[in-house]
Amino acid sequence: MERTSTPLRTRFSPALENIRMSPIVSISEEARERAAAFEAAGRTLVRFQRGEIDFPTPAHIVDALREGVAKGLTRYPRSGGEGFFRDAVVARMKRDYGIDDLDAECVVATCGGQEALELVFKLFERGAGFAPTWSCALENFVPHAGIDFETVPLEPDFSVNLDRVEAAVRGRDFFYLNNPHNPTGKVFTREELDAIVEVCTRHGVFVVSDEAYEQIVYDGLEHHTLARVPQENVISVFTFSKTFAMTGWRLGYAITRNRHVARLLRLGNYTQTAGVPAFIQYAGAAALERIEASRAAVDAMRAEFARRRDALCDGLEGLPGVRIERPHGAFYLFPDFGERVPKDLAGPERERWVYEQLMEVGVVTVYGACFGRHFTDHVRISFSATPVEVIEEGVARIREVFG
Ligand code: PMP
Repeated sequence: MERTSTPLRTRFSPALENIRMSPIVSISEEARERAAAFEAAGRTLVRFQRGEIDFPTPAHIVDALREGVAKGLTRYPRSGGEGFFRDAVVARMKRDYGIDDLDAECVVATCGGQEALELVFKLFERGAGFAPTWSCALENFVPHAGIDFETVPLEPDFSVNLDRVEAAVRGRDFFYLNNPHNPTGKVFTREELDAIVEVCTRHGVFVVSDEAYEQIVYDGLEHHTLARVPQENVISVFTFSKTFAMTGWRLGYAITRNRHVARLLRLGNYTQTAGVPAFIQYAGAAALERIEASRAAVDAMRAEFARRRDALCDGLEGLPGVRIERPHGAFYLFPDFGERVPKDLAGPERERWVYEQLMEVGVVTVYGACFGRHFTDHVRISFSATPVEVIEEGVARIREVFG
């Protein structure tokens, strides 16, 4: 039957009309097309664009998933999290961070950190956060929630300008912070974090702390979680995706001492998805409770990420006119090519220039404009799924262009 187009008077709600697919996904699609041309010429692409991880989920967690299914955890889950899952989270916050005043009511299980953050952004109308910012927060959560969002640029060395934070949070509902930081790899110091909490508290503003990369910290540095702050204006968000190589499982959680906020997040979780499948929560609880196996797996992944970080940073060191801040956390490097970009370039052409130069030699990165409007001469280079040999090949090609 022939399909006819029906004239509609419908105006779609801006909630979905105003969001767009992550630019990183678009870049991956573009890379797929270019890969064919490269392969035809006998070369491969070096893919530095994604936050995906090339390790398998540790076997003991996969085994626990099977156990969960065998136990019959296949019915509707409890929205906001099963009791056993939330208890496991409370116990791990005590064991890992010495936090002893949380209870299960403070924990809300979600489909990945992404659902937790999406729900948290929906709580508010006016927010602020650092630039650069994880693209999904800017391109998806902000327009989906219809939020008025102001960005506060980090300094060129990615340190915090507290006066700017204070100016931005006045009259706002929340300040969003991601630590360790995507896309820069910055690990915020305890002093920076305490100062941000102090400023937000003084202005009666929530702090939303996205700690997706909490376990991916190098050089003996410590991750300072904001879940330790015994205040009702703090919401912290965690995920299994990065720590346990569980990106596809979609399991995360929010922690807040604010009962009202916890109740709203549970309601949101019910409305959106009814809850995280209980057998997945069971496997997640096992990841938190089977401590030795989990620790061994996480330590091995962290050590490999550190090797990759070193190969990348050492390889790119000394590139003329390229500023590199060595990342201490997450798995991203965010170099500044500002001195190498032709002075007369402006607008979108400028924003994509470094990215395009690197694409020419088969190196896929993400251009800085994907993370907001302040760091547009930078590119993000991810080493989450690139073994050291691939990094070395990538470095050699980057040197071909910018050496
Ligand atoms: N926060 C940041 C900064 C991230 O980079 C990501 C994933 N890329 C997330 C949160 C959410 O991850 P997930 O939904 O897989 O838990």
